[in-house]
Amino acid sequence: MAKHIQAVRGMNDILPQQTPLWRFLEQQVMNTFDAYGFEEVRMPIVEKTELFKRVIGEVTDIVEKEMYTFDDRNGDSLSLRPEGTAGCVRAAIESGIIHNQIQRLWYKGPMFRHERPQKGRYRQFHQIGVECFGIATPDVDAELIIMTARLWRSLGLQGLQLQINSLGSSEARAAYREKLVAYFSQYQDQLDEDSQRRLHTNPLRILDSKNPAMAELNASAPKLLDHLDDESKADFAQLCAILDAAGIQYVVNPRLVRGLDYYNKTVFEWVTDQLGAQGTVCAGGRFDGLVAQLGGRDTPAIGFAMGIERLVALIEDANTATVDYNPHAYMVVAADDGIAAAMQLAEQLRDAVPGLRLRLNCGGGGFKAQFKRADKSGAQLALVLGEDELKRREVAIKDLRSQAEQCNVGFDALPEYLRSTLGL
Ligand code: ATP
Ligand code: MG
Repeated sequence: MAKHIQAVRGMNDILPQQTPLWRFLEQQVMNTFDAYGFEEVRMPIVEKTELFKRVIGEVTDIVEKEMYTFDDRNGDSLSLRPEGTAGCVRAAIESGIIHNQIQRLWYKGPMFRHERPQKGRYRQFHQIGVECFGIATPDVDAELIIMTARLWRSLGLQGLQLQINSLGSSEARAAYREKLVAYFSQYQDQLDEDSQRRLHTNPLRILDSKNPAMAELNASAPKLLDHLDDESKADFAQLCAILDAAGIQYVVNPRLVRGLDYYNKTVFEWVTDQLGAQGTVCAGGRFDGLVAQLGGRDTPAIGFAMGIERLVALIEDANTATVDYNPHAYMVVAADDGIAAAMQLAEQLRDAVPGLRLRLNCGGGGFKAQFKRADKSGAQLALVLGEDELKRREVAIKDLRSQAEQCNVGFDALPEYLRSTLGL
């Protein structure tokens, strides 16, 4: 037998056992975003490499070491998207939909980063993201956060902590950057390898280090919040005031800088201590300069992205998902040559009972084998079509999950019977 080919390392199949949780999450997300008037966009998975270099920054981990980049057959450099904001902003500019207009957009899909695979960190992973264009005021910053809090409630997730910070204007950040470089330069020998490299390329990222050995040095570093411009300070105060009024608890984390280069003013993360080192499930912030940087009109913007694998893991642990995609009923065909009639009946039932999940036994098999399949399907009811039933235009109904008496129901009465028994 030929050796089977395995999936690419860090890229996972999501199998039927898992998909109900994914669908539960996606459904709650859609309901929540709909409730706030957000509209869905779908972008290509591949973009020009140049786009990610411009948006994410050349001296970021993502662009330097994590992107899946290749030349296509024309010799153009393309990359699998490592995140969604770049493509979303590109699409928004290119289509003209953010020209003098407010847009509240969201997207979902796979992202690709060549990282070291571990729990909560994969090479293909999934994000659901939101980007809101055209609003400069912090009311929308607060609304995005309030919307995510509602989503966690609908998913039954408790114990997520909200961390917020402000990165200020780009001028304030530039001045702060100098202070930071001066501070870390005093401790050159204590910097780990990554931090040494970042000291002059991207010093703010040192604060984002996941290395515990850097924690002490980072804790004493000058704080960005102490160096904010007046407008950023006022916006941050208003954000806090709206969150307070909404009863949303948060922690101000002065070291929260986010991994990507394009943020300014508000940044936030929702974190959990239940997933080990991979604790951030949702991260976002304002990126007012990005649209103009990509050639669009100056347009304020704010967004966030959630890591779906991490959220699914939390939902699984919390065991709060109320999902059941098992068939309601399994049709057992015990009459010779009965399959055509059974299939016709099954079609009629699917027409007559919206929402009915009916699995028909295909592939034949004896009565016992079919019942075994019916049981394994998770269905509540077995609808049995034997010779006699077929003649009398009836099905015998057996409840597979209780000791209830078997009963016979005529074809015509079946839709009503199923509706009331199954609550459809
Ligand atoms: P981290 O600090 O965990 O590396 P990040 O700052 O690189 O995250 P973002 O680019 O902000 O992450 O992406 C938003 C979210 O997407 C993260 O908070 C996380 O939940 C999820 N995420 C990012 N990278 C991965 C990955 N390789 N595998 C699974 N989820 C990921
Ligand atoms: Mg990362």
